[in-house]
Amino acid sequence: MKQFFTLLILCLLSANLGAQKMNSTKKAIIASIEDHKENLIKVSDSIWEYAETAFNESNSAEVLASYAEKNGLTVTRGVADIPTAFTATYGSGQPVISVLGEFDALPGLSQKTVPTKDPRIDGAPGHGCGHNLFGAASLGAAIAIKEQIEAGKLKGTVKFLGTPAEEKFFAKVWMVKAGLWDDVDVNISWHPGANTEADVQSGLSLIDFIVEFYGQAAHASADPWNGRSASDALELYTNGMNYYREHIKPTSRIHYHIQDGGQVVNVVPDYSRIWVRVRDPKRKVMLPTYERVKKMAEGAAIMANVDYKISLVSGIYEMLVNRSGGEIMQKNLELLGPITYTEQEIAFGKGIQEATGKPQVGMDSKIEPLRETEKNPGGGSTDVADVSWNVPNINLSVTTAPKDTPWHSWAVVACGGMSIGHKGMIYASKAMAMTMADLFENPKLVAKVKEEYKTRKGDEKYEAMIDGPPPIGSN
Ligand SMILES: [Zn+2]
Repeated sequence: MKQFFTLLILCLLSANLGAQKMNSTKKAIIASIEDHKENLIKVSDSIWEYAETAFNESNSAEVLASYAEKNGLTVTRGVADIPTAFTATYGSGQPVISVLGEFDALPGLSQKTVPTKDPRIDGAPGHGCGHNLFGAASLGAAIAIKEQIEAGKLKGTVKFLGTPAEEKFFAKVWMVKAGLWDDVDVNISWHPGANTEADVQSGLSLIDFIVEFYGQAAHASADPWNGRSASDALELYTNGMNYYREHIKPTSRIHYHIQDGGQVVNVVPDYSRIWVRVRDPKRKVMLPTYERVKKMAEGAAIMANVDYKISLVSGIYEMLVNRSGGEIMQKNLELLGPITYTEQEIAFGKGIQEATGKPQVGMDSKIEPLRETEKNPGGGSTDVADVSWNVPNINLSVTTAPKDTPWHSWAVVACGGMSIGHKGMIYASKAMAMTMADLFENPKLVAKVKEEYKTRKGDEKYEAMIDGPPPIGSN
């Protein structure tokens, strides 16, 4: 009798939702990524060197697209009316598993691969968010899956999406609107970071808009009474927003960037321009705040006796997390084990920490347990969130910089161009490809991930927060 129950339990265990193991497919995937390793590093390093900002990533996109093509994926360039957006696919039929690759840099963060601030080119952009690693790792995963489909080991379709302008305009919102995920069952994404975890945290929803004030120019001293100052309106507007901060929810944020406050001191400015961003972990809290902040522009314009115009740039949702997907990823991280570092890499990490005033503890690559999903997460926002409202999304964070590294800084650029970043990139590639393999091999896992997506989304209808074509060539 006891043996019978033991047998029954064993049968039940093997019939559960795919006991994830290091099977032959995963071994082949790891071998494939190891084979491509030197090339993937070259791809990443050239994107790191190009350091192209939002919608200017023509060389970076091409490096990825041509490597995909060279490896037998079918590439479609210029999707969603965005010259630097592309897809690379292989295979046919279900399931369709997609993976995202970003590749845009940030202005002003140019940096050499040294642990103290030292720009490679003064004032030039740099990969302060590690997106050079992001695109290359994801493409490596897509190629590894392609090779398994080609070998007849996996059945279905793999789709890599080259997604530009994450740092400024959120191109994925237009790509979602163009229907690029309509045929996808599950999407995989990752982000470089200072720790390694299957990421089940949401992010902040946000909206970006530009306010322009139009007045009348005049001599600042000889006939200022003939002037109507657009910069007065701008100052009144920022004052209004700063007073309003006291009355918004503690979870909300208001940021602005003055893009034009007049040109010279002796002219009453007839034009001013400000980029405003409102965010909150919940889109439903963010939207009423956005309405108030928009209204203030009208108030400022009345006070300064000028005209004004508001233009929506774009907006993004909060991330729809998927814990079932996170569990699959978690298992693969545990199968891989943590990244290990050489003495030199640890010293480099401590050097970064010394230069940025952080405790000199080196690298943190331990695999975090799957955390609780926080109700009001801090941190930033990403347009991956808009993908996550249209298809189940599994997220990963992998160590590509030392613990506590200030993000969007020269320190991230430094690590992303050397072995610390490269190691994280290759690791991310393997973890994502292994997770994709689980989804290809086990329809029950796909069903479970989809079920959670449906429950979390509920009755909410996704509406892209954009109202025109992608702002290519805009500032
Ligand atoms: Zn990023």
